[in-house]
Amino acid sequence: MPFGFGKSKSKLVAAEEALPGRAAPPFAIPERHAVLGTPIRGPFPAGQETAILALGCFWGAERLFWDLPGVSTTAVGYAGGHTPHPTYEEVCSGRTGHAEAVLVAFDPNLTSYEALLKIFFEAHDPTQGMRQGNDVGTQYRSAIYPTTGQQMAIATATRDAYDAALRNSGKGAVTTEIAPAGPFYYAEEYHQQYLHKVPNGYCGLEGTGVSCPIPPRQAAATAATNGATTMTTTDTGGAAAADPKLLPVASHDREWKERLSPEAYKVLRQAGTERPFSGEYVDTDEDGLYRCGACGNPLFASDTKFHSGSGWPSFTEAIDPDAVELHEDRSLFMTRTEVRCARCHSHLGHVFDDGPRDRGGQRFCMNSCALDLDKDAATVGAR
Ligand SMILES: [Zn+2]
Repeated sequence: MPFGFGKSKSKLVAAEEALPGRAAPPFAIPERHAVLGTPIRGPFPAGQETAILALGCFWGAERLFWDLPGVSTTAVGYAGGHTPHPTYEEVCSGRTGHAEAVLVAFDPNLTSYEALLKIFFEAHDPTQGMRQGNDVGTQYRSAIYPTTGQQMAIATATRDAYDAALRNSGKGAVTTEIAPAGPFYYAEEYHQQYLHKVPNGYCGLEGTGVSCPIPPRQAAATAATNGATTMTTTDTGGAAAADPKLLPVASHDREWKERLSPEAYKVLRQAGTERPFSGEYVDTDEDGLYRCGACGNPLFASDTKFHSGSGWPSFTEAIDPDAVELHEDRSLFMTRTEVRCARCHSHLGHVFDDGPRDRGGQRFCMNSCALDLDKDAATVGAR
């Protein structure tokens, strides 16, 4: 990654001296996360929170977060400065005021803001001011841009706790900037999930070796306060212990590639569509439980399956509304509603409103190779 020395890049540019930017991004922003397959832009599913964190070069920083349970997507971009919709070159000039930042969308029931901050503080050296190791300049400064008042309180308390811990270890003071989140400008496609695309690419991140204590929340806590990942008993993660047919969710795309057949990989992980009338479950009437072909998550009961004539297995409803997640899909010049597995976020198919009227009117149009019929499961009624 290019970096430069010099005083001008180590001093934050004033708003009136910043580059003017532009009204819209001058480049296309990819729709989906290259590893997780999820949309990288909001609006994110209800109940999700977003965190915006800057800890040096965003290539390595982003990778820290996309494997975590409860994280639905990550993206890299520019935040905390003045120039609207900057380019990478403009940010590198030091004349935008932006920091290279990572956006993390997460489910606070599955992970906590504290857990993200613990990773944040321990993965870099937040005492360095306008640099991070060899990367020198204001764009590499350490910063937290809270998106809620609660995040602001947690960020401030955690920074103070880590500052004390570092001083106790003979290190310097924390220079991490904390400011309410402004706009997050997505970076060029080339930078998104960079270390997935370039596995041996540059990653200059290095922590201090000092563990980050997590102070308890002041207000009534809604999620874990000890920095560890927690799972509630009602979520899909909690069911993992009870259901032996749940498979681990792969953390890297190459794992999915190894585990899945080429056809299933193309549908599940690359949002492909199998040819109509080609799949093994199109005409199946057998009883059982249709699970996610990637992770084993229970998705559809056989008694909600019907013959739609479309050439794809069709269901009137999911076994539980929380088993699947719905996303707007604007590909192929249409607006459709995409259906993904809520547990591993793999693509399953689409849902349309031309299903049987007497049964709710929905048609979950699935790909056979995205499903796995579990005939051993006792006949499962939908709810
Ligand atoms: Zn799944």
